[in-house]
Amino acid sequence: MRLSRYFLPVLKENPSEAQIVSHRYMLRAGMIKQQAAGIYSWLPLGFKVLKRIEQIVHEEQIRVGHIPLMMPTLQPADLWRESGRYDDYGQEMLRIKDRQGREMLYGPTNEEMITDIFRSHVNSYKELPLTLYHVQWKFRDEMRPRFGVMRGREFLMKDGYSFDIDRDSALHAYNRHMVSYLRTYERMGLTAIPMRAASGPIGGDNTHEFLVLAETGESEVFYDSAVTDLRLGTREFDAEDRETVAEICAEFTSSYARTDETHDEALFNEVPEERRRVARGIEVGQIFYFGTKYSEAMGANVVTSYGSRVPVEMGSHGIGVSRLLGAIIEANHDDKGIIWPEGVTPFHVGIVNLKQGDSSTDSACNALYSALVGKGLEPLYDDREERAGAKFATMDLIGLPWRITVGPRGLAAGKVELTSRRTGESEEVSLETAVERVAQIYGVL
Ligand code: ATP
Ligand code: MG
Repeated sequence: MRLSRYFLPVLKENPSEAQIVSHRYMLRAGMIKQQAAGIYSWLPLGFKVLKRIEQIVHEEQIRVGHIPLMMPTLQPADLWRESGRYDDYGQEMLRIKDRQGREMLYGPTNEEMITDIFRSHVNSYKELPLTLYHVQWKFRDEMRPRFGVMRGREFLMKDGYSFDIDRDSALHAYNRHMVSYLRTYERMGLTAIPMRAASGPIGGDNTHEFLVLAETGESEVFYDSAVTDLRLGTREFDAEDRETVAEICAEFTSSYARTDETHDEALFNEVPEERRRVARGIEVGQIFYFGTKYSEAMGANVVTSYGSRVPVEMGSHGIGVSRLLGAIIEANHDDKGIIWPEGVTPFHVGIVNLKQGDSSTDSACNALYSALVGKGLEPLYDDREERAGAKFATMDLIGLPWRITVGPRGLAAGKVELTSRRTGESEEVSLETAVERVAQIYGVL
């Protein structure tokens, strides 16, 4: 993409309504525009990152055998009357009437609808296990929408629903979600710690929230610092191997890590003092095993191998896709702007032409651009008639992890400059080497 042809409405001034850095940078980098409290348009740069995040979520769900579908945003109130939640949900639910006077709602989540799909089409244990998920907009009329996309009213969520014949299988589905989430967040360059969460009135302790540590997080968290060193890395495992999957979950959940809702001071004090941490975190996901709560209420039964009918065992598992943009920026920025992790960056590399209109720098930039595109990469070429300082400031603000700077002096020696946004370190290399290095970084050599 050539910047002169793109739509990147960057702001020079700090928007006064933004209280936290991610919100401020998302506005300044022209990623989002607020249309009403907690409701945003996703401008091209923001939309690109949102799609990258969504793509990683899909890939990791599909990798472990979960099946994508799409449910609507609008739902009939009657489904929610069956589960009893239409009245329970309260003011957060946006209720709407259509022209026939039928009661509808904008879905805050989809347990009822997925249970309805399941009961209409699945009858036998032979069709299990089954996990269906979608990535769809939700609406919750939050009391205090704030922090930009972190606490919106309309927000994008991946929500998945697991169906199993018995408790053991359902717990495996829970564990499988945990490992798929760990890999999902790691690919986004995040450390998201699974923390034991409160399960509310349903009981049981099978719910974990995933928290990204950040000073601006809304949750208070207590943990053993050893958990922050854990990485799934490139480990290969079979998602249906119950034992291995359970071992990985045990590795990630055996150290103390809880939110204030489940915090237990006595247990926390058993952690060696030098490893005890009290901090703040952003909830970027939650997994939940709740058994037969919805299947019993809504008659979602399956025939077992013995021929009896039992309510299906369920769990629901969510990732805050749009909130993740904020969380990633909170965890990756400096005073000049965003620093995108390579896994989610909107463009792989920026090209800065220091002397626009000069035939040799222009043609070198064009050659670089084509070579990068030839490798399957997406460069953003700043080809505007701007001062070098302004071009650098824009690149720093929008946070592309790599920048190639092309100027007449370097070119005379056959060199361009390759700079890391994260470390600020630069290297003088030939055009060909610059292309190869970037291709190598993104694994497309
Ligand atoms: P919170 O406690 O932050 O209100 P929640 O526990 O009610 O969230 P879940 O029902 O667990 O949310 O939804 C799954 C994920 O969706 C959350 O982990 C979070 O990342 C994201 N999410 C929830 N509410 C919002 C919101 N208002 N804006 C953006 N993302 C949200
Ligand atoms: Mg939650």
